[in-house]
Amino acid sequence: MIATNAIQFALQGDMFHCPIKGEFEYLSDALILIDLNGNIAATYQPFDAEYALARDELKLAGKLTELTKGQYLLPGLVDLHCHAPQWPQAGKGLDLPLYDWLQNYTFPLENRYTDLDFAKEVYGDVTKTLLANGTTSAVYFASIHREPTELLAQTCLDVGQRAFVGKVNMDNAEQCPDYYREASIEKALYETELFVNNVFSLKGNDSGLVSPVITPRFVPSCTPTMLNKLGELVQKYDLHMQTHCSESDWARDYSQTQFGKTDIEIYADAGLLNNKSVLAHSIFLTEKDVEMIKRYNAGIGHCPLSNMFFANAAMQTRELLDHGVQIGLGSDIAGAPSPSIFRAAFDAVSHSRVREEGVDVKLSASDRGTAGSRVSFIEAFWMATTGGAQVLDSKTGVFAKHYHFDAIVLETNKDVGNLRIWPDFDTPKDILEKIICLAQKENIKRVWVQGKQVV
Ligand SMILES: [Zn+2]
Repeated sequence: MIATNAIQFALQGDMFHCPIKGEFEYLSDALILIDLNGNIAATYQPFDAEYALARDELKLAGKLTELTKGQYLLPGLVDLHCHAPQWPQAGKGLDLPLYDWLQNYTFPLENRYTDLDFAKEVYGDVTKTLLANGTTSAVYFASIHREPTELLAQTCLDVGQRAFVGKVNMDNAEQCPDYYREASIEKALYETELFVNNVFSLKGNDSGLVSPVITPRFVPSCTPTMLNKLGELVQKYDLHMQTHCSESDWARDYSQTQFGKTDIEIYADAGLLNNKSVLAHSIFLTEKDVEMIKRYNAGIGHCPLSNMFFANAAMQTRELLDHGVQIGLGSDIAGAPSPSIFRAAFDAVSHSRVREEGVDVKLSASDRGTAGSRVSFIEAFWMATTGGAQVLDSKTGVFAKHYHFDAIVLETNKDVGNLRIWPDFDTPKDILEKIICLAQKENIKRVWVQGKQVV
């Protein structure tokens, strides 16, 4: 029996989580105990011997909160790919091709972040918005500037979000505008290493809630020397790494034309890949690429809505899941406009269904799509929680002992949002699928990160 004084608080109620890909567990009227460090000390179900005594003692100690009927505890959501400085651009210019979108909207906006007041306003807003949408872990691209990127890391600490933050690196004069490019490789590397060390030693970051991420924007933005030097930093400090990978025809062709390699081969040769690498998109992968991603135990950030606008093709999500590649979901703000990972989970399903059925009415039904390529709602929710956490090598996403308590309470009773549950005929699976399809910010009543309530 766990001593009551070793418990910070406990929750009793109905819970969902997906410890195993493609499956879900419904814990009815379960008890979850959070220790003084914000980690899960135990999860008991009513049939466990410890359940009744633990509940009674914690209630007596004033440490028990009972969820009401219609409230559900879920793991916090993981956003593997979000451009924080592009938040003011969300929903703009999405009818442009990627190159024009970057040059006309994105680069001028990202360059504004030398204005620290502007950075403070946007970064405060985007981190709080993601938290309110249930995103307890976020992986952020910032801009090329060190100081505002440190401000983003500090903001994540201040609002209590688990975050992985990167100062963007881009130095290729042929692809990056003069006004938004590293002054020199030497300065960029000095600033990047300083950023890494400054984030590790941020005040209040002793538990490592915020991690620095090495962030080459993508192959066209970086010279080979830059990629190699960033790879050395990844190895030196055993860091997370995030980048865009084979996102579109143009990006894939650029790597082949310039280097005769795929993006994965280029990143691997530069020493950038490890078990904490987040490869956003990863649409045009060869069989060899997939094997290499698995060998490095790297992970993919699947951004289905953004893919609809910029990828030129459909994600091979079904095949990657079946191959056991680590895969989670990303909002890709502002390549897609929604800050909700529930929305990304829904889009992952609908995207896969379009792919399965096909689109060309002139073809026969049997020739129109890719049979067997659908992704289930439960698989999508697994990617949104456990899968994303695995990509980051982060102990979240599952309600089990020693995992960090990052969680949200979904309210389905209130007359808010579009989510409605009919207890007479909605099974637990129905309820979870309805949450994935219909949950809005208004339904997210409480959010905890590392045991601390932040919403
Ligand atoms: Zn992106």
